[in-house]
Amino acid sequence: MSSRPFPPGRYPVVVVGSGPGGLQTSYFLSRLGVEHAVLSADDGPGGMFRRFPLFERLISWTHPSADVPRGSREFEAHDQNSLIADDPDLGALVLDQIGEDHRRPARDEMASGLRAFAERASVGVRYGCRWESTRRDEDELVLVTSDGEYRCTVAIFAVGMTEPWVPPIPGLELGMHYVHVSSAPDRYEDRRVVIVGKRNSAFEVGEAIVRSGLRELTLVSPRPPDLARLARSPLRPWYLTPYDEHVRGAPGRYVLNASVERIERRGQEFLLHALDPTRPESVVVEVDDVVAATGFRAPLQDLPELGVTTVLDGRLPALTPFWESVTVPGVYFAGNVTQAAQGLRKHGVASVSSMVCGFRYNARILARHVAETVFGIRLGRPRIEPANVVPYLLGELTRAPELTMQKGYLARVLGIDAEAGIRNLGILPLEVFVDGSHDGVAATLEFDADETIRPVVYMRRRGVLNETALPPHPLRRYEDAEYGEPLDALVRPLLPS
Ligand SMILES: Cc1cc2nc3c(=O)[nH]c(=O)nc-3n(C[C@H](O)[C@H](O)[C@H](O)COP(=O)(O)OP(=O)(O)OC[C@H]3O[C@@H](n4cnc5c(N)ncnc54)[C@H](O)[C@@H]3O)c2cc1C
Repeated sequence: MSSRPFPPGRYPVVVVGSGPGGLQTSYFLSRLGVEHAVLSADDGPGGMFRRFPLFERLISWTHPSADVPRGSREFEAHDQNSLIADDPDLGALVLDQIGEDHRRPARDEMASGLRAFAERASVGVRYGCRWESTRRDEDELVLVTSDGEYRCTVAIFAVGMTEPWVPPIPGLELGMHYVHVSSAPDRYEDRRVVIVGKRNSAFEVGEAIVRSGLRELTLVSPRPPDLARLARSPLRPWYLTPYDEHVRGAPGRYVLNASVERIERRGQEFLLHALDPTRPESVVVEVDDVVAATGFRAPLQDLPELGVTTVLDGRLPALTPFWESVTVPGVYFAGNVTQAAQGLRKHGVASVSSMVCGFRYNARILARHVAETVFGIRLGRPRIEPANVVPYLLGELTRAPELTMQKGYLARVLGIDAEAGIRNLGILPLEVFVDGSHDGVAATLEFDADETIRPVVYMRRRGVLNETALPPHPLRRYEDAEYGEPLDALVRPLLPS
């Protein structure tokens, strides 16, 4: 025990969590020279992927074959699962783990890739240390843990979002939440199962138990599956067998759009009563098993009592675009929980901050933001010559993995100032630029209302913001005159002569 790093004490920053969010954040803090401690209740790295997803492979891809070098920045778009690093040898580590012919890692392959990152990048973690409560002592935050007290200026909680969340439906407690479902292959053989919920974990369980030879499967929740949203979702190709079989009328496969009134036990079976708004009477489904795939919440412990405002029935904290609590300064979040900062959500498109391929970039921005604004570490803002602005932005739109992954959420931002010239402000949340006041350009990729990917350029000149969507390209290549000329015409009035 004495060899464990980070004994209780005072640290500039404390990071809680050793899932991909915590590991990625710690890596970037270290790169910037921000001293910090990392604590985790687990006994090794990997976070949620040590347990979930229960059945299936991940929904995010790792494509081994690519026209760019492994570990390069461009390769990141081919590999949604590995953590990212400045050193190419630390990138793409999940690739080493996945078996032949697989495009998506299995859970244990993902966990091995994360373990390799923690080892090779020397991310130190105090494992077996549970954060239990929190208080403020003048300017310091105090995290009380199973090992003692940690005092810090900034706390970054990368605690994931896997605590069961169950809506108050009478009798739902008789069922089993996703996190407790048995993954034994024959557990549901020849049984009638109802799954309450119609989002990722519901379809994942549904798909898995359809394969285990169950007799009857019903998915039920009030809202119909959002097929428009699914069209943009990594879920679509992998988990939709139950829905497909329902639509095509397979016996014993039902997807109900109804609100569950109550569940009651009758002998060995359960009766689920649901209200379908198109029918005068409740629908009653008789089943052997009830699975509550009703979602998850972040384990925020006593942060709400400290003043951290929450959203979504307390499931997530309310966050600024830089992932700080809107109500308690110094309390930041990383990893999956960064999805709580929703961004602009144009055309209803959500970020992918709940997934590794999204929050790994948020982690770099967060570390830079904390280093700069809290600890006064000066970061470079390289100057760009006016003649290079258009080619640079078109190259970013074509190749930047941050823009490819976090569509409409992250942007390449250039600040333009008569005295300082054109400065590369880096990859930032688009919302930060849009809601800011400085003149400049932000380039991003967005889905339009028809699900088509387009480059979109935001410009602010003398305080007035304009937004221009450029045409889509069938091969998503934006580096020729078709894009150069209109972009040049757009940005030229803004550039210093
Ligand atoms: C069923 C399911 C399937 C998913 N599939 C994918 C997928 O295919 N691809 C993808 O990219 N994402 C997927 N996700 C999203 C997934 O949540 C994230 O990608 C990722 O695992 C979250 O990383 P994280 O570091 O934020 O949290 P986690 O991986 O959940 O790690 C949380 C860490 O915080 C620690 N912790 C929590 N509370 C405390 C405490 N009180 N004290 C000390 N330590 C604490 C935990 O021990 C753990 O180390 C899936 C999520 C679910 C629920």
